[in-house]
Amino acid sequence: MSFDLIPKKRLGLYVHIPFCLSKCAYCDFNSAVPENDEFMGRYVSAVITHMNNYRDAAKEYEVDTVFIGGGTPTALPKAELIRLIKAIKKTFNLTRYAEFTVEANPATVTLPLLKQLRRIGVNRLSFGMQSANNRELKALSRRHTRQEFIESYRLARRAGFDNINVDVMFGIPYQTFDSLMKTLDFVTRLSPEHISMYNLKIEPGTPFYKNLKAVREVCADEDTEYAMYTEAIEFLERRGYPQYEISNFARHGFPCIHNLKYWNCEEYLGFGVSAHSYFNGNRFSFISDVKKYMEALEDIETDIPLTDEFDPVESRERMGEYIMLRMRLVDGLDPRAFAAKFGVSFEETYGAKLKKYLQGGFMVRYNNGCYALTPGGMFVSNYILSDILEFDDLCSYSGSF
Ligand code: SF4
Repeated sequence: MSFDLIPKKRLGLYVHIPFCLSKCAYCDFNSAVPENDEFMGRYVSAVITHMNNYRDAAKEYEVDTVFIGGGTPTALPKAELIRLIKAIKKTFNLTRYAEFTVEANPATVTLPLLKQLRRIGVNRLSFGMQSANNRELKALSRRHTRQEFIESYRLARRAGFDNINVDVMFGIPYQTFDSLMKTLDFVTRLSPEHISMYNLKIEPGTPFYKNLKAVREVCADEDTEYAMYTEAIEFLERRGYPQYEISNFARHGFPCIHNLKYWNCEEYLGFGVSAHSYFNGNRFSFISDVKKYMEALEDIETDIPLTDEFDPVESRERMGEYIMLRMRLVDGLDPRAFAAKFGVSFEETYGAKLKKYLQGGFMVRYNNGCYALTPGGMFVSNYILSDILEFDDLCSYSGSF
């Protein structure tokens, strides 16, 4: 066999763009309104330098997924976004059919931009719609309306995108069970290939958190949220979107291959502020401060550390991580694969806890022997998994999304 025929290892790439046109009231992602276009150009240059630093380490890999997320990647000046994409393609060995996703805010896309993205190899778009109800969108301080979303979505189809994700949220201010169902009816009629549905979590440091009491008063209670989630799973299944992960639903053949890498514990490299990586048996993340990140990459003499956390993943940790990630998937965890990977029995190690959740209806064991969470179990998956793995810190909240 010639050397060229030896299959290369596969790698996912993530690039974080920490810029948005304005800050949504619930958002705790690392994103802010940029100073100006020049500042964003500097950031793109820093990311390109950073990627170049990993060129040799990634030489042995074929990149089969790329995900540019944020923030709002489409908030970058068009030329900068194109420059970044071209640099990714030049720096890494992308497979011919690599899944290449760009997250887009409906308020920031134009037909020329979408056409150019499609032309240079972006083949998947992910739209943050969140709701089809204008009152709910306003409460979230989203910049787009329902009508603007429809227009952006149609532009994406016209530009040739045949793999589109739409994000939806539930548990948001003023949303009722019926209004969520109307949003899901609206989205499924547009017929995207993929739908993600997240529960609003009110995080410290956000305007929602500062007005916690007032926000909670206009949000559905937990029982209604539970009904929303479980009914949404059935509704989406009926409309041709079977669930494959706690928050993700897709038409046959269109799961997000990039995100599956996270849940399957496969390798990926993340670039940009706060980006995480799992590479060569290590998990690490980069610093979150945009200015420091740029300075660290602009000056090779600098002593600003780029890496925030670096953890060689130990066997026991790897086991916990594997359980946490695999149990997010509807396919669940195969105890035989677990035993082959870690040399211990899943049932013998976690038997008592598994029994409790199986009997309580939060977990099932399929005929093929795999363990998985039921919809009710997924709704409280953080609680269940932290209990099984005895992680106290995850027990402090019940949400799973
Ligand atoms: S557009 Fe997304 S990343 Fe930006 S502020 Fe809103 S929720 Fe956060």
